Amino acid sequence: VTGAQASGVIEPGSADYSDARAPVDRRVDDLLRRMTLEEKVGQMTQIRLGKLRGNCEWNPGPLREDCMKAVLEDAKVGSILSGGGEVPNPNTPRAWAEMTNAIQKFALDHSRLKIPVIYGADGVHGHSNVVSATMFPHQVGLGATWNPDLLEEIGASTGRAMRATGVFWNFAPVSDLARDTRWGRYYETYSEDPVLAGSLAAANVRGQQGPADDTAKLTATAKHFAGYSEPFNGHDRAPAQLPIRYLQDTVLPAFQPQFDAGVGTVMINSGAVNGVPAHASKYLLTEQLRDRMGFRGVAITDWEDIRFLVDRYHVAADYREAIALAVNAGVDMAMEPSNAAEFTSGLLANVRSGAISGRRIDQAVRRILTLKFQLGLFEKPFVDEAKADSIVEGADRRLARQAATEGTVLLRNEGVLPLSTNARKLVVTGDAADSVPRQLGGWTVGWQGIPSGSPLPPAVTVLQGIRTAVPAADVVSAPTQADAVTQAAGADAVVVVLGEDPGAEGDADTESPELTAEQQALVTAVRATGTPVVVVLLTGRPQVLGAVADAPALVAGWLPGSEGGNAIADVLFGAVNPSGKLAVSWPKTIGDQPFSYDQPRGANAGPSSSYDPQFAFGHGLSYTTFTTSTPVLKATEVRRDDQVRLSVAVANTGDRDGTVVVPVYVHQPVSQVLTPYQRLVGFTRVTLKAHEQRTVEVGFPTKHLAVTAGDMHGDGRPEVARGAYEVLVGEGRAGFTVR
Ligand code: BGC
Repeated sequence: VTGAQASGVIEPGSADYSDARAPVDRRVDDLLRRMTLEEKVGQMTQIRLGKLRGNCEWNPGPLREDCMKAVLEDAKVGSILSGGGEVPNPNTPRAWAEMTNAIQKFALDHSRLKIPVIYGADGVHGHSNVVSATMFPHQVGLGATWNPDLLEEIGASTGRAMRATGVFWNFAPVSDLARDTRWGRYYETYSEDPVLAGSLAAANVRGQQGPADDTAKLTATAKHFAGYSEPFNGHDRAPAQLPIRYLQDTVLPAFQPQFDAGVGTVMINSGAVNGVPAHASKYLLTEQLRDRMGFRGVAITDWEDIRFLVDRYHVAADYREAIALAVNAGVDMAMEPSNAAEFTSGLLANVRSGAISGRRIDQAVRRILTLKFQLGLFEKPFVDEAKADSIVEGADRRLARQAATEGTVLLRNEGVLPLSTNARKLVVTGDAADSVPRQLGGWTVGWQGIPSGSPLPPAVTVLQGIRTAVPAADVVSAPTQADAVTQAAGADAVVVVLGEDPGAEGDADTESPELTAEQQALVTAVRATGTPVVVVLLTGRPQVLGAVADAPALVAGWLPGSEGGNAIADVLFGAVNPSGKLAVSWPKTIGDQPFSYDQPRGANAGPSSSYDPQFAFGHGLSYTTFTTSTPVLKATEVRRDDQVRLSVAVANTGDRDGTVVVPVYVHQPVSQVLTPYQRLVGFTRVTLKAHEQRTVEVGFPTKHLAVTAGDMHGDGRPEVARGAYEVLVGEGRAGFTVR
């Protein structure tokens, strides 16, 4: 605290924080120096909606003045969240807007300095807490689109919907890598690959945080920083053991593009990495996040995680000590759902005892106020309740359909697909054929998926989508295996749609990420009838397929959202030529976990030393065929801080129009430490008419080649090694040298 700030004297020429035209940093300076310590620690606190309503605890019920007073006036809390499934009743966009406006009004009326609150929620596949909102595919399906432009549009749509209801903070997207199908949050990730995941996440952030209308702007969240997705035994929040080389070269790079895109907030990994809970790790939260990766926004804890430093990890003797550990490590705001006053008083006690410095508090509060000013919350704290329904309900359904079709991956096709639109009889069976909850998955209205008693979101199931696509056909729904077998006789095809129970976090962990015995038996039984069979998988992870592995037609539709049924029908009947490509490796056996294509080269020299997937990363068929030429490099020598640019001719050699994803990999013939046979460094999507050919250019920064060198040491930094490399595109390759 400087002299002028301590005495409360406002320096000549400094801005008044209420002056919207003044630069944000000057407004923050002014506001910060007017605030008491109690007001500052309140800003560092986020509390769950439940504490403002019902019985001031977990009870839903309406907002209550005395509950709001305890949180917003007494504890001076600066942020509220809807924990998964905390929704107003009725759960309509308008009711959300009324609720967030009422909270905001109370906060402003009872805040000495009129500091607005910021409301946060998990809009992880659209504004997915709201029944009538459009649910996009979950991230695992969007990963398979390899389409950043689409992700940007989805981000913008989600942001529009959330802002219309007064939710200006979205706890999405997830940048964790998909590397273990046992993990319950696999479906919340884009890809196992950091370049692909990072580019899609950054595009989504740009969309979400893009230009606002007549409301404040929205901040996205990069989560969960870092190393969350590889709990050592596949169980959510189990500790991760990640070699520093792997952390730096693979895990952290997936976050960097979001930081470069200016994501406003980061949420911290609830687990421990290498023996240190991420929430207590100055190495992760300050050295890596701030000093090396350049993140400038607000770091928030995950749910109750400071408390867990005591109860779960036992790295602090009591809550107060845990608060000091976390805040000194780099936490700016605590998602402290249950007891705001305990957190704020613990924080105050730490400042008074000197365990946390006043400078550290000011640094955290400065970041939080900067965010609130940048979003425009001081100027536009309220939303127009009358507009909320029309902005949210049924919005962007065409975009949702496009996303679901582009994410659908045609895994196998022995001449069965596309189905004829002249089919006379089709049988549709399987546990996910006509199930909105299965199709939409977890984090839909409720945390674990649509809660019983909630109205169903208006979604199109596969059964409905097929009926709409072929209105003249007799589309028979066969709920049981016996029905399906009986009906198969004389049918043109049987479509078997298999899913998994919706769920989230630890409840969605599984020891056996494979199709169940019943699911496999159903497919075997209908195949035995001799009628052509198409298997559609609506699952949040690649399931080990067992007897289904050689099904004549196999389609991965993931968790495709509100328009899933129409999208699957588009692909099955060929209205859309499939272009989805696996953004994850499809394992052959459960024992493959953890799994990814970029395993370091081991005993064998070839590309697949220990990589023997059912379907490889990047796999995905089309109804046409494509070829790519040998890549041609613009320059065969590049500097270490440069871009590599290449061109490649892509040809559609078949009779249908189609879109192809062209991945670009790099191979390093000789490296100082083990590197994968190939690493993804860039990609492009090309849409070509039948028999059309086009030359496209792709570029990538050499920083994608960076590797942490050194013999077992933990203090090295990723660097681009000088020497020989090759780019690999399809079957073609071309060499270049980094100088
Ligand atoms: C999850 C976060 C989520 C938060 C708030 C936690 O349990 O780990 O991803 O943002 O809850 O709902």
